[in-house]
Amino acid sequence: MPWILGTQLHPDAGPLARAPDGSRVLLIEAHDFARRKPYHHDKLTLVFSGMRHFRDELREQGYTVEYIKADTFGDGLATYFERYPDDELVVMRSPSHRSADRFRELVEEADGRLDIVQNELFVGTRKAIDQWANETDKDPFRHETFYRWMRTQTGVLMTDDGDPEGGEWNYDDDNQEFPPASWESPPVAVPEHDELTAQTSRWVADEFDVWGETDEFVWPVTRAQAQAKLDHFVETRLPEFGPYQDAMRSDDWAMAHALLGSSVNLGLLHPWEVVQQIEQAYDERDDVPLNSAEGVLRQLIGWREFMRHVYRHSMPDLSSANQLDADHDLPEFYWSGETNMECLRQTVEDVEQRGYSHHIQRLMVLANFATLWGVEPAQLNEWFHATYVDAYHWVTTPNVVEMGQYADGVFASKPYVSSANYIDKMSDYCGDCYYYKTKDTGEKACPFNALYWDFLDRNEDQLRSNHRMGLMYSHVDSKQDSGAIDEIKDRVATLREKAEYGEL
Ligand code: SF4
Repeated sequence: MPWILGTQLHPDAGPLARAPDGSRVLLIEAHDFARRKPYHHDKLTLVFSGMRHFRDELREQGYTVEYIKADTFGDGLATYFERYPDDELVVMRSPSHRSADRFRELVEEADGRLDIVQNELFVGTRKAIDQWANETDKDPFRHETFYRWMRTQTGVLMTDDGDPEGGEWNYDDDNQEFPPASWESPPVAVPEHDELTAQTSRWVADEFDVWGETDEFVWPVTRAQAQAKLDHFVETRLPEFGPYQDAMRSDDWAMAHALLGSSVNLGLLHPWEVVQQIEQAYDERDDVPLNSAEGVLRQLIGWREFMRHVYRHSMPDLSSANQLDADHDLPEFYWSGETNMECLRQTVEDVEQRGYSHHIQRLMVLANFATLWGVEPAQLNEWFHATYVDAYHWVTTPNVVEMGQYADGVFASKPYVSSANYIDKMSDYCGDCYYYKTKDTGEKACPFNALYWDFLDRNEDQLRSNHRMGLMYSHVDSKQDSGAIDEIKDRVATLREKAEYGEL
């Protein structure tokens, strides 16, 4: 009997795709996990409403759905096997660390039987990726290596001669323009939600100690809604996605981004169907530039699959990795949004509103600041996991702990940190900020600047020998030689004091 997890809501994958018509299907809506941390209201609404809609759709198709609401998976499984002691459940493997072992234990405790099968909601299989990783003479934990292999294997954006479309593998350099003031981002498709979602949203707000705004829910909860969002993205937003992929604008939360991560990670869309639709648009239309198509496909067949690969091979150590010994608490303004730093204020406000901000806000504003501040990586990981609608541990742990905070070194070749320079180049935040983007020290100097030099100075033993950091350390040398580093350290001490009083 198929057991469908809440992140596997796809009708054509795994045991459900092969179940006979009218078959019994199990879904367990477990609630205890949602009480353990202040999840974003929209994240819980998304998961629970998605499951409830999937239940109703399966019933309409003639399946006999056992939809069990329980505190824990253990309770739900015990209830199921009391009713159906002779059943054997078949579930697709969850990407979460140790979930297979845990599910086996729970089913055993419930005197039931369980078969765990391959998770078909990824493009690559664990077996094929592991075989490649074992056989390749390159480093299998470099994204570019992995991505090129995936392109070759799938044939996505490859010519008949086996070359990458356009001659280059990666058009990242063409994803970094800032739009002119006259540019208007394309409209966002927001699903029309029904009473079931409205009722689930109210229930979530009453039942759990949630974080975030509850007034605007913009995420698809059904496959039909997700397909409509995909169609809309490909039709109207994809052409402009490429050039402005990394740009950040005030009061423009969506830019031209796909906004499909929550749907793919919930199983409402299979990543391969998204890949195919985008590649088809690139092949058939004149208005889809290569940097747009490649930019999205790199995320889907490259980065997303690479994150699962890294997570599988680096857990459990990755979740507690902290090679830079960062031990500061996450500043309170990640929850309250109360800060004079415009880039952080606006980004936290975006997350509070919808459980979402795009990848550069995540990496170069939120994770950048936390890394410079010296936040313990596990704390930032927990924050992302609780607050983003598309975040699961297998997604956030490599993205936040490693890519965002350089806590392990498994695949990041250097920390992704910057002063105000990068944020100013890629956003319009600095113009409206209380702080001066060009000043390192003194009242109103941008905190990113002093923190950046302080970060390099205090982590010198680990980072100076990194050949990718050479230029940065030549600047550190001048600041150390001139004594400017002392003023910078004083400024950082002041910033930490201000943060304590909620005045940063
Ligand atoms: S000046 Fe500094 S704090 Fe203000 S928006 Fe720019 S980078 Fe952020």
